[in-house]
Amino acid sequence: MSYIKIDKDKCKSCYLCMDVCPYKLIKKSNNIGTTGEYTVEFSDSEKKCIGCAQCAIVCPEIAIIEVNRE
Ligand code: SF4
Ligand code: SF4
Repeated sequence: MSYIKIDKDKCKSCYLCMDVCPYKLIKKSNNIGTTGEYTVEFSDSEKKCIGCAQCAIVCPEIAIIEVNRE
């Protein structure tokens, strides 16, 4: 079961990670970030994450601080 960790304090709400995830596992959260927009959260109730790290690679803010591939 792979998963990621997002540092919401680093997220600048560009949403590039949402677009790149093959399973659309990253969604807008209810938290307003430093840009005044919603930050993102990892949402994987069906355990689909494959730990591909595409989300972390595309993030300009290095806000996806951990990718665990299991
Ligand atoms: S790519 Fe990074 S900065 Fe952009 S929304 Fe995702 S976590 Fe936030
Ligand atoms: S590691 Fe891959 S599958 Fe998992 S959330 Fe990031 S882009 Fe999606």
